[in-house]
Amino acid sequence: MGGISFALHGLAVSSGIAIGRVHLVSHALLEVSHYEIPENRVEDECARLRAAAAAIKAELAALKATTAASQASAELNAFLDLQAMMLEDPLLIEAACDRIRQQHINAEWALTQQLDTLLEQFDTIEDPYLRERRADVIQIVERLLKELLGLARPPKPRRDDLPTIVVAHDLSPADTIGFRGQHIAGFLTDVGGPTSHTAIVARSLQLPAVVGVRLARQLLEEDDLVIIDGARGVAIVNPHPSIVEEYRLRKAELEISRTRLARLKDAPTVTLDGTPIELLCNIETPSDLELVQRVNADGIGLYRTEFLFLDRLDRPSEDEQYEAYRDVLKSMKGKPVTIRTFDLGGDKDFEPNTSRVQPNPALGLRAIRYCLAEPTFFLTQLRALLRASVHGKLKILLPMVAHAHEIDQTLQLLARAKEQLQREGKKFAEDVELGAMVEIPAAALAPGIFLKRVQFLSIGTNDLIQYTLAIDRQDDAVADLYDPLHPAVLRLIAGTIQFGAKNGLPVSLCGELAGHAEYTWLFLGMGLRQFSMHPERVLGVKQRLLHADINELTPKVQRLLKLDEPARLREAFEKLNAALPAA
Ligand code: PEP
Ligand code: MG
Repeated sequence: MGGISFALHGLAVSSGIAIGRVHLVSHALLEVSHYEIPENRVEDECARLRAAAAAIKAELAALKATTAASQASAELNAFLDLQAMMLEDPLLIEAACDRIRQQHINAEWALTQQLDTLLEQFDTIEDPYLRERRADVIQIVERLLKELLGLARPPKPRRDDLPTIVVAHDLSPADTIGFRGQHIAGFLTDVGGPTSHTAIVARSLQLPAVVGVRLARQLLEEDDLVIIDGARGVAIVNPHPSIVEEYRLRKAELEISRTRLARLKDAPTVTLDGTPIELLCNIETPSDLELVQRVNADGIGLYRTEFLFLDRLDRPSEDEQYEAYRDVLKSMKGKPVTIRTFDLGGDKDFEPNTSRVQPNPALGLRAIRYCLAEPTFFLTQLRALLRASVHGKLKILLPMVAHAHEIDQTLQLLARAKEQLQREGKKFAEDVELGAMVEIPAAALAPGIFLKRVQFLSIGTNDLIQYTLAIDRQDDAVADLYDPLHPAVLRLIAGTIQFGAKNGLPVSLCGELAGHAEYTWLFLGMGLRQFSMHPERVLGVKQRLLHADINELTPKVQRLLKLDEPARLREAFEKLNAALPAA
């Protein structure tokens, strides 16, 4: 069996485990040859290009017919329609034919020249939606080139029974679903973000995928054995047989629990003793909404708006933000949608060329601090949020609050945004609630600052643990010290929940821990009634709470919270969970 074992890291965009052999998909744009065509062959060359376009059109139509019969998303069909439309646009095929005639060059060369011209035009487009279509033009040209170069062939059958892991620089939707029925188990791509086509298609086909792996296409060889761990965003290349066995087991377990959990989607979210619980989702882009619908969540508990900055250096305009927020609110049809204002700076820096080097970004000008330091920029977001509020039940959440004056300043800006909108005759809802993240220990220790200022709280355990234990959540070297069961962490969480209950201030928990089913009973026993997590975690947590009796859990958790000795605390935690059915 194969060469040296190594792991590649990228962005986790579609979870699940895949074990298979690499099929390298060529990057046609890099493989174009340039040659001249004699005058008498010019029309044949144009015909060759038109035939390639016709072949792809037929393929797209066939794909649409097959996806119509499956559960593939509407988003996917829209991609297919768009690509078919582009093939008919005279600015593509006919313009390339003109180049063949005028310059006597081969079809591939003419096509890449025409692509360059089109891309130059794209660069001047203001409209963000149209600008994004740039990627679609590149992909359709890539597809045409592959057809012309004869590279559009499916992977050849494997000598063993293993499925194929497609490894590419980037994949178009047509590429990805064109692999349907080819025994494809997953995707790895050099480029792409959470909203890349590969990511969207992979999620809708429920295939594990890792994107943004940078050198995947260069480091991997045809037929290499690869494990994709989609949830972790890792690919293990040439793994040891014992690792393969381990992953096979995990994959089988995952599949069984997925089928079992899917049945819980419509079950009422109520504990054994009859307490209703809200299960909300964390989303990063509107494309996550499909997953939210799939698990029938009670709403969005955290929309991380800073992801609007992904893959770009300029700032999203008010209209662009308004549209993104509106789309999420509309699609949730009146269920609550908590949108967090920009948590920029720190590890989510979007200005790589900034001249200001922060000595310690996690403690620096981040989140609410950053926004208040740039009031015009913050006001734009608040205006966009207010404008979107008429489309559903909006709640605004402020990240990293530690001081009362941070909320007061935000309230002043909100009032200003309302005045401006009123003057401009733009509508907004009057009853938008304002909430604060509790993710700095100071906020958890002195929650009184929130009374009379905000209407709800949300505990961000990711940062709360980082700041309480002084563990950089980004730093692998101290990852083993990142302990959610540290008594200090547990007391800050429990204290915040109790404070909320005593003062009629609803509290949710939206850090990663909310989605870890082994913590569900602990949090229920602390009094938590709202959990917000990645959509994929919702049904696992739901299963746990359906088996929970809060009357039994509460005294046990109260005793656990008094423990200081780590071993005893862990023992109590394990005992608490001992009665749980397997996930
Ligand atoms: C948190 O800190 O727990 C949180 C939810 O926010 P983020 O992970 O975006 O910092
Ligand atoms: Mg945080």
